[in-house]
Amino acid sequence: MPDFRIAVLPGDGIGPDVTNEGLKTLRAVETVLPELRFHCDELSVGAGEFLRSGNPLPPETMERMKDYDAILLGAMGLPGVRWPDGKEMTPQIDIREVLDLYCGVRPIRTYHPDDSPLKRGANIDFVLIRENTEGLFYGRHGSADLDADDAKDTMRVTRHASVRLFHSAFKMARDRRKKVTLVDKANVLPSMAYFRTIFQQIAKEYPDVETEACYVDAAALFLVRRPQDFDVMVTENMFGDILSDLAAGLVGGMGMAPSGDLGDKYAVFQPSHGTAPDIAGKGIANPVAMILSTAMMLDWLPGEAAKEGGRRLHRAVESVLADPSARTPDVGGTMKTHEMGDRIAAAVLA
Ligand code: ATP
Repeated sequence: MPDFRIAVLPGDGIGPDVTNEGLKTLRAVETVLPELRFHCDELSVGAGEFLRSGNPLPPETMERMKDYDAILLGAMGLPGVRWPDGKEMTPQIDIREVLDLYCGVRPIRTYHPDDSPLKRGANIDFVLIRENTEGLFYGRHGSADLDADDAKDTMRVTRHASVRLFHSAFKMARDRRKKVTLVDKANVLPSMAYFRTIFQQIAKEYPDVETEACYVDAAALFLVRRPQDFDVMVTENMFGDILSDLAAGLVGGMGMAPSGDLGDKYAVFQPSHGTAPDIAGKGIANPVAMILSTAMMLDWLPGEAAKEGGRRLHRAVESVLADPSARTPDVGGTMKTHEMGDRIAAAVLA
């Protein structure tokens, strides 16, 4: 019987609310597939943990995470809770780096055309893959003298990280519509020309997959003009950070955008959104991104039973969202967080 150990990190703000709904749907999957068992342990990480212990990601908690088959994360951070130098606390980024979760997978899909602000927003279905361990985010390890005359950040691109990232993108495309779009700024930045050269080298190993490359500014335009043309889009860390929010906006906003941060050994699944302090505690956060992230975890776990669980949970979300009135307020509806979770869990059990 496949037994999986799951570390659950609800975090701050709306994190615990949406995590509850993700777990509710996981229990529903367990009910319909009794051969699957999930042992979930809650771990405290985030701004709340900082206020308790002085560290948003205590080293022993970080170490414990390595004992689990997968990690489910809500959202982390609270307004006003910052390091003494004013920098935001970002334990979710630290976790990516410590566990070497190099491949940030962000599926973007319209479940109903009404959710998109685009006139022609139906049938958007692509995956944005974001490099997670270096790129322009590498600059976060530096510091700036706020009284100096200039400040610099370094964009780091390594062959090692790029090669494994591109292999992940091409393998994913083989299971989809067989097209990979590289997004870079190779016309301006030497690191991006290097990134593109490696992409072209790896592409030769996948002759069955169509490729194209576009600059990040053009990608922003094409995402709005013709998002249906994309299948798998791969890019560096900061470009991926920005474009994934734009992409989420195309299909109903942050509450509809799941993500998985994958490494070779570990993986963290979390909604693409943050802690949404403006709606925390109101019971109206959209749990769909968290529930879809839970489904992605099932897809990723080994064995046919978990994959069947993932298919069932994806189908349940599809069937609920086919009704455009089944929506939380961020997507124009009136449902509460728990009502949406109940509805999707019921669809799993149906
Ligand atoms: P971070 O810097 O951690 O990404 P942020 O405050 O910039 O945090 P979010 O927390 O993602 O960004 O919130 C951006 C906007 O989207 C807010 O108006 C928030 O209320 C809304 N939002 C985010 N997630 C959800 C959700 N699950 N349901 C409803 N609205 C959401």
